[in-house]
Amino acid sequence: MEKRGNNGRSKAVLDAAAFLNSSFFAYDDAVTTPRVLDEVKSRSAVIDALLRNGELNVITPSKTAVETVKHAARKLGELYKLSETDISVLALAWETGGTLVTDDFHIQNVAEEMGIDYKGITEKIRKKIKWVRKCSRCGRRIPPNYRGTRCPHCGGKIIYSSN
Ligand SMILES: [Zn+2]
Repeated sequence: MEKRGNNGRSKAVLDAAAFLNSSFFAYDDAVTTPRVLDEVKSRSAVIDALLRNGELNVITPSKTAVETVKHAARKLGELYKLSETDISVLALAWETGGTLVTDDFHIQNVAEEMGIDYKGITEKIRKKIKWVRKCSRCGRRIPPNYRGTRCPHCGGKIIYSSN
């Protein structure tokens, strides 16, 4: 049986690349580590909204989980190919039993060895993505084909919203 979140989908553990590619909107029960969040701060408007909505949770993996990942990675000769951030998401996925979302070959290799469920990012995009752009000031929905970075009605900042 797969672990189930609020909407019957398994928990997604997101690496930095999963954020840089809009695929993370496909999840409503996502977790990541503080290190990943540090790397993706440039997307803070989007990420702040997800954090506020409770759709993204930030969890620090335990030391035991980190050591377990390092041990497995060392055995595979992958330890020096992984950053501390990579190790942190692996540890979190191992600890939570979630599905790791990553396109990184080295991370996938260690996940495979540890029996961690993982998915590629591009593969996830084909799944349902239900997010819209909204104006942070007037709240109007911004049409998908609108290319500007500011609200056409009031000039407010455009933010991403998942509903
Ligand atoms: Zn507006």
